[in-house]
Amino acid sequence: MQDQQGHKAGVVALIGRPNAGKSTLLNNILKQKVAITSPKPQTTRFSIQAVYEEERGQIIFVDTPGIFSQVKDPLARKINPRAEETLNHGVDAVVYVIDHTREREHEENKAFGIVRKARVPKILVINKTDVDEPTHRIQYKFMEEEFDAIVEISALTGKNIPGLLDAIFSVLPEGKAQIDTAHLTQPGLNIDSKMFVAEIIREKAFLFLRSEVPYTLTAVVDELTKRDNGTLYVKARILTSDERYKPMIIGKGGTMIKEISMAARKELETAGDKKVFMELTVEVDPHWMDYL
Ligand code: GDP
Ligand code: MG
Repeated sequence: MQDQQGHKAGVVALIGRPNAGKSTLLNNILKQKVAITSPKPQTTRFSIQAVYEEERGQIIFVDTPGIFSQVKDPLARKINPRAEETLNHGVDAVVYVIDHTREREHEENKAFGIVRKARVPKILVINKTDVDEPTHRIQYKFMEEEFDAIVEISALTGKNIPGLLDAIFSVLPEGKAQIDTAHLTQPGLNIDSKMFVAEIIREKAFLFLRSEVPYTLTAVVDELTKRDNGTLYVKARILTSDERYKPMIIGKGGTMIKEISMAARKELETAGDKKVFMELTVEVDPHWMDYL
């Protein structure tokens, strides 16, 4: 058993626009040491993306859904305050990832507005520093004074990820590990969870359908089996609350659903280091929100 003296533990909200590099960053952090993903939406307000553990302590990375949402949609409006609340309850630090190769734009401003109000230590991560051009770094400069630390990394190459971990550990409170990781599959990500796989599908659907059907959908995984040849077989459904969204989710000639399924499959293959076969369909279920 580990001496708890000096042992740090806490929850870190990982925030950033779609494509900022959050998943790449987590994959890279997890590669360096033992860590596990186990979403537990029933017991926490947010889904756990990963648990990182080492001598210095335990970091629980969580996701804050809705922080980058369109506020026009009535359900999104409900989710947004939730995201804001999450940052002030049960989160010990915020890691805000920006992509300097993209223009700042409106959604980033809104998310930054929420982040800057969080009353916990905040770390600004400037990602993709392996890329010099294009850069819009100047547009993000004003953010820097709102943060307790600024860390430049490349999630892709792994550059300065140890520096980011140093920054996180330096702001986390002392305490003992909150999640017992001993019984979980390790090392690597636990892609054997239906909930985790559903989260990834939902995330990809949000990403590709952003302006069209925000928050009218969710994903359910009906089957998750390891085949004899080592591939992981996933049978899943996207549920939408309204008939009129179904054709948009499917796309012309099935292109949209194919794109969602392919992106989710790719992410699962990277996370689990095995081939994934995914069967994804769309279904109208006006009541899916009632099951949440
Ligand atoms: P997420 O939506 O925030 O989870 O972003 P992802 O981790 O899926 O990354 C989005 C895209 O950016 C992927 O194509 C990544 O390979 C790429 N990416 C992420 N981090 C870096 C980085 O540090 N440098 C470069 N060049 N590309 C990156
Ligand atoms: Mg991601």
